[in-house]
Formats: sequence, C-alpha cells, structure tokens
Amino acid sequence: MERNMDKIYTIEHARMLDREDPLASYRAEFVIKDSSIVYLDGNSLGRLPEKTASYMESAIRKQWGERLIRSWNEGWYKQSARLGKKIAQILGAHPEEVIISDSTSVNLYKLAYGALKAKEGRADIISDDMNFPSDLYIMQGLVRQFGGQHALRLLKSPDGISSDLTELVRMVNHNTALVSLSHVAYKSSYLYDMERVTELAHMHDALILWDLSHSVGVVPVSLNRANVDLAVGCTYKYLNGGPGSPAFLYVKKELQERMENPIQGWFGEQNPFDFNLHYRESEGIRKFLTGTPPVISISGLEPALDMILKAGIGSIRQKSVAQGDYLLSLVQECLPGQGFRIGSPEFFEKRGSHISLKHAEGYRICKALIDPEIGRCVVIPDFREPNNIRLGISPLYTSYEDIFSAMEKLKLIIEEKLYEHYPGTRDQVT
Ligand SMILES: *Cc1c(COP(=O)(O)O)cnc(C)c1O
Repeated sequence: MERNMDKIYTIEHARMLDREDPLASYRAEFVIKDSSIVYLDGNSLGRLPEKTASYMESAIRKQWGERLIRSWNEGWYKQSARLGKKIAQILGAHPEEVIISDSTSVNLYKLAYGALKAKEGRADIISDDMNFPSDLYIMQGLVRQFGGQHALRLLKSPDGISSDLTELVRMVNHNTALVSLSHVAYKSSYLYDMERVTELAHMHDALILWDLSHSVGVVPVSLNRANVDLAVGCTYKYLNGGPGSPAFLYVKKELQERMENPIQGWFGEQNPFDFNLHYRESEGIRKFLTGTPPVISISGLEPALDMILKAGIGSIRQKSVAQGDYLLSLVQECLPGQGFRIGSPEFFEKRGSHISLKHAEGYRICKALIDPEIGRCVVIPDFREPNNIRLGISPLYTSYEDIFSAMEKLKLIIEEKLYEHYPGTRDQVT
C-alpha cells in the first residue's frame, strides 16, 4: 500500500495530470487567494469567478447608481429570460423553456402545484427517500393544501446510495400524477437515468419533474431529447452564482399553456406596466414569474454560464468522471481498512460530481480536515448526517493536486487518529 502511494500516487503524478488537463486554464478564472486551501465544496457553494465581482459592481455602480430606474428598460426586465436562455443551452432545452426565478424550493412548489392541477383525479406523487428534504417538505405541504386527496409515496433506497428502478416501475401507475426526483442525489451522488425514468412516467401518462440542483453545469442533461415535462434547479452550486443566487425553472413548451402558476403576481402578467386590475397571464415561460427579480444577484450569474458554455459540458463531465475515479482509487490505495465506506456509486455512469465517504467519525474528521493546524493545507469538504463526508469536484477549478492533497491529509488524520481532538457537537451549518 505504501509502495503504491509512493510510486503512482504522488504529488508529482497529480501535477502531471494537471498539466495534461485540457480544462486546467479555467482555474485561473476564479478568485483563489490562498492556494493552500483545497476547496471541495463546490457542490454546495461554487467558487467566485473573477469576472463576477465586476459584473455585480457594474450592476450596482453603473446600472443602479447612474442609470437608476432607466435600467429596467436597459436590460433588467429581460435579464431573467436572457440568462434563462443560456441555462437552456446548458440543459438541452428550447430557449423559451427556461427562466430565472425565485429559489429552487419555490419553483418546485409552483411546478408541482401546476402538475397536480393538470392531473386532477390522480392521487399519487412519487419521490424517493434520498431526495433533498426541502423538496419533500414542499410536496408534503402540497398534499396538505390540496386537502389530503394526494399521497406522497417514497421509493426506498436499498442501501442509501442508489435507487432500485424495478421497484420504481412497480410504484408508477395510472394513479400517479407526478414523479418528482433529484437527478443527482445530494448525499450519495446517485445519478438517475433521466430518459428511462421520464419514459416510465409517460408510459402511465404521469408528469415528471426533475430537480437538477446537483447536475446542472456538471452532468450533461438533454431535457428536450428526454422529453422532460418540468425541471427546477439551483445556481449557486456548479453554476457558481453566489450565495442565495436565484434558481431557474423549465416547463416544456407544449405544457406551458396548460400549467397554472399558483402565485400569480405582476411579473407573470402580460404587461406588468399596464397596471391592469385583472390578471391576464403572460404567454410562455414568463407566466411562471411572480414578483420583482433580484437584479443584482442575477447579474452575477453570467460569467460562470459563459465559462461553462465555452468549456463545453461534455469536457466538464469527462474531467469530473476522471477526477472522481482518481479520488476513489486514492481512497482504495491509501485508506484501506481505516473504517471508510464509499457512500457513492462506484461506477461513473451512475454518479454525479461529488463523492461521499462514510465513516463513523465523519463529523470529527471533517473538523480536522478544515483545521489549518494539521497537515500542509486546509481542506474544505462538507458533512451530511449521519456519517457522510462529501467531497465535491467542480472541474472548472478543482485540480488533481487538490484531490491528492485532500487524500493525503485524510490519511494523516486517520492514521494518527487526530479527529479525536475535536468535539462531536454540530455547528449550525454543516
Ligand atoms: C441545493 C438544493 C436545493 C436548494 O433549494 P433552495 O430553495 O434554493 O434553498 C433544492 N433542492 C435540491 C435537490 C438541492 O440540492
């Protein structure tokens, strides 16, 4: 084991992989002040692109500071749809099918509500027990608000890591109104076969709603090719939009007229500035908007979207898979018999871009990884209960050296039991 680590798994080898990496140059387009920080949490909050600060600065100083309210006609009003088109391009959707709006949770509420209305008479909403809790809360709330005519049925994962599609086949039937799943599971990184599951829902005339929060920008998605009905997703993870940046929603063209927006506000009106006393819903995707968009926050989205479009989602995925495999082989070579279990699918086709390692001391190990007093770098992962250390790979800025250094520190912490020096009490945000 030692021999292997010395021969193949060396920092020189990692650096060589970085030199051969066709996407390596993108790292310089992000703000990285301290190169001794190994950031492996881009799946939770993406790094700041260099250009983003100047886009936001211009939105504040020029557009707000100088142009004032004139800026609404000079770009603000159209911004949600204009950047929605760029996201549509990343998602293989028609430009008129995606718009920036609200948060992921609110968008999920709007679209799931619309789906239940469109499928009145059908009782079942199907999701799984690996889904992001907020998504499940939204659906539980909808069941209550619709007066208890619906049931939220959760597909149980056999191991907490992957999904049993044959069981899903058994659950979906003529009583299913909506199937709503995360494309990539936030904890285990399990990647659903979007085409297959969408087809399954359609076979029974049910609607499908994908949450793309953990796949957008890092896993190729073809919403149109897969014939997806509805989707939502987050922009502060692999889209690097910054804390609290607004989310997006997608509604297939043929469905847009049929779908009802449960929160009809003036931004979804045909012409908000007519100040008409009676709501006339807007045509197309705009009708899913509600109120004034967070203009400053949206203006920070563009640099990363442009970078992703330029790099190409295929190349991004290729690097993500190679780095995931590299990380897994380091775990196998350097940490055998140390109490780790791989908490993600090992076969790359079934996995998104982060990797979970399970360890009984996961929380305290995370604390040690972040501690600058240990090893030669600060490693920032995140922790998901009860025992998952999540290591996010964001290929536009994650280097092979980052991954090597993180595993080296992990090895040190485990071999010398350094985690024993930290309390197990949880911080508010983990
Ligand atoms: C990150 C994430 C969200 C975030 O929801 P917000 O409403 O934007 O806070 C929702 N769903 C999933 C699956 C996520 O990963």
